[in-house]
Amino acid sequence: MERYAVVGNPVGHSKSPQIHAAFARQTGQSISYEALLAPLEGFADYARDFFNSGGKGLNVTVPFKLDAFQFADQCSARSRNAGAVNTLSIDQNNKILGDNTDGVGLVRDILSNHQGIIRNRRVLVLGAGGAVRGVLEMLMREQPAQLTIANRTVAKAEQLAASFTDCGPVSATSFAELEGERYDFVINGTSASLQGDLPPLPSSLLAPGAWSYDLMYARADTPFTSWAKAHGAGKTLDGLGMLVEQAAESFFIWRQIRPETLPVIQLIREQLQ
Ligand code: NDP
Repeated sequence: MERYAVVGNPVGHSKSPQIHAAFARQTGQSISYEALLAPLEGFADYARDFFNSGGKGLNVTVPFKLDAFQFADQCSARSRNAGAVNTLSIDQNNKILGDNTDGVGLVRDILSNHQGIIRNRRVLVLGAGGAVRGVLEMLMREQPAQLTIANRTVAKAEQLAASFTDCGPVSATSFAELEGERYDFVINGTSASLQGDLPPLPSSLLAPGAWSYDLMYARADTPFTSWAKAHGAGKTLDGLGMLVEQAAESFFIWRQIRPETLPVIQLIREQLQ
């Protein structure tokens, strides 16, 4: 049985083992998939041991996505643009390949699962951390009319915007400067929701019918989702669909089979309740 795992620290909360077990059942693949806790200072040794002992693929989560980028012998274009790797695999020559499936996961969830539209929309992304860096290229490929990155530490948003200017109209701003601005699609990529918190957002931020997407997911509405509902959002989504879609892309990289995601999103949603 070929061996796969998600590696992180902490990792106990990860839904990836349930998601990949569901993919394996659905597609008749005989694999094992577990959650592995690597030492904070020892990602590379840990990952090397995993592959040396016959492991076939790793998902990489917080805080190791940058370490995984350094660790891989060869990285895909999308992981180079993200500066981070969330999927490692090993080829016939024992080369370790790095990829990043977060961006494609988010965009597939919005476009395919919810028939959302990014093209020609004014898109606001809150936050400028690892998750946002991972999804920007794929969002820009959808050709929004404008993509604005707002972050508490504005310099980080400016840096990110500068590295994606070749992809289209992208700019950076502070939260305070959002006053008077309106957006059709607001994506929360801050980790504020994890602390039950919310970035300071002006009440007129959402255009009529605007969509909101919190990269975080939870059993109940996140603080950002509650805010969006209270301020007229036409549709509010959370990151569970993205999580399952990025996992499906990893599964495809490893097994060359694309699982059906909707039943698995439903299953994990039920398990959250
Ligand atoms: P990082 O630690 O890399 O970045 C955190 C970001 O949040 C920074 O921009 C930080 O601002 C901002 N921030 C933190 N607290 C606050 C606050 N109280 N008010 C305003 N801004 C705040 O985290 P990640 O990018 O890795 O993760 C971000 C979110 O995305 C998390 O909720 C995570 O769960 C989710 N995620 C979901 C995935 C999915 O598949 N659904 C995949 C990956 C992540 P500053 O720069 O000023 O510190």
